[in-house]
Amino acid sequence: MYDFAIIGGGILGTALAYQLSKESDGTKIAVLEKENEVAQHTSGRNTGVLHRPFYLDPETKGKFARCAQESYGFWKEYARAKGLPWKEVGTLEAALDDIEYARLKKYKDWSLQNGMADEEARLLSAEEVRTIEPKVRCVGALLCSTDTAVDFGAFTRALRDDAKQQGVQFIMGKAVNRVRENHTGIEIECGDGEITRTRYLINCAGGSALKIAHWMGVARDYADLNFRGEYLIVGGASARLASRNIYCVPRHSEFSFLDPHFVVRHDGRTEIGPTAVPVFGAYAYRGLGKVWSKIAERPVINKLRLCVNPEFLRLCAQEWRSVLSPRAMVSRVQKFLPDLRVEDCVTRGTAGVRASLVDQKGQFVPEVVEVQTAHSLHILNYNSPGASGAPAYAKEIMRYLQKGDAV
Ligand SMILES: Cc1cc2nc3c(=O)[nH]c(=O)nc-3n(C[C@H](O)[C@H](O)[C@H](O)COP(=O)(O)OP(=O)(O)OC[C@H]3O[C@@H](n4cnc5c(N)ncnc54)[C@H](O)[C@@H]3O)c2cc1C
Repeated sequence: MYDFAIIGGGILGTALAYQLSKESDGTKIAVLEKENEVAQHTSGRNTGVLHRPFYLDPETKGKFARCAQESYGFWKEYARAKGLPWKEVGTLEAALDDIEYARLKKYKDWSLQNGMADEEARLLSAEEVRTIEPKVRCVGALLCSTDTAVDFGAFTRALRDDAKQQGVQFIMGKAVNRVRENHTGIEIECGDGEITRTRYLINCAGGSALKIAHWMGVARDYADLNFRGEYLIVGGASARLASRNIYCVPRHSEFSFLDPHFVVRHDGRTEIGPTAVPVFGAYAYRGLGKVWSKIAERPVINKLRLCVNPEFLRLCAQEWRSVLSPRAMVSRVQKFLPDLRVEDCVTRGTAGVRASLVDQKGQFVPEVVEVQTAHSLHILNYNSPGASGAPAYAKEIMRYLQKGDAV
């Protein structure tokens, strides 16, 4: 009988195991992970940017913003102590017209409201941009000097090692496929029929988290949709067009993950992306995934409502064009990096899949969602910049559990 069983050895489940074992002596904690290694899904397949929260609206994304801000110091110190990659490349958010520049002014306000120091995010004129990134075309930009290229997979593995030393048991290669709640706790059944018992369950299963919540009869009002983010590796002369991340201002705040950027990875590689193509399954890294089973997942009405939104359908078509033709993807980035050459962007890079929650009105839910039963807590919609904010969010979950007397 464990005190806590966490489903999911991604960055969130692992950070939670680390924090729980650090702060509660003698507590029996297990992490159940279906893969043989941690961070095999979203946590190891992302843009690798430790995001500073300048672009997060404190009203609608307050939790993500607060956790990214609070985690920054932890990650910086942890990377130093463990000798993990930490490349403070910075991000230039480029405005293509005056409306976008006005939005950057809003970002500057948000950066301060979210607790960033004044000098971390600076508004630049087109002239000033030219002096630091001569190949970038824009009417002005916001420069965040502290955005950092990291390896979230390496962070997760290091947290796992520390958590293990603090007594956490990592049960690997076991897919949970049934969960039953009774008056003393939870019984978790894995694919091989083995049962694990726990006083309290925390569901951090990323792309499978909603499915597990539905098994337990909660969060039934929500559906989720999967979007695959694909990158193209930038080679040749194009790889040196910029020395920092270049983002453009999202055109659709509701679908803010849709606009591709030029990214500098922690090892110096550069990539463009990601796309956000709708796919049918949380692990559909190639092809379409399991079309019919995803469409039939309940509740169907949420997805239907979203799919009658013509703007959403138009954006989906555009995203698929970018996957089918590197030229289409490159042309989107050329709007702010006109010298980028198609022939330098032909090799596929990383691909990761996000699971975005859709409510009954057919709208994307902007914030992380927590749902509880008597003996379980389910973390849903833990999307970008979730990797950046994982240590602080893990602490937030602990406080949440303490309030409910679970810890
Ligand atoms: C394309 C893309 C780019 C991104 N870029 C960034 C970025 O630059 N910066 C940033 O901060 N964030 C970024 N994010 C978001 C970030 O990667 C996620 O918020 C974060 O990794 C989520 O971590 P997690 O632990 O919740 O999920 P995951 O990493 O998906 O972990 C969940 C784990 O649960 C396991 N699991 C699932 N079902 C079961 C089961 N039944 N039994 C046992 N185990 C199970 C899975 O195998 C998996 O290991 C990006 C996301 C995407 C998709």
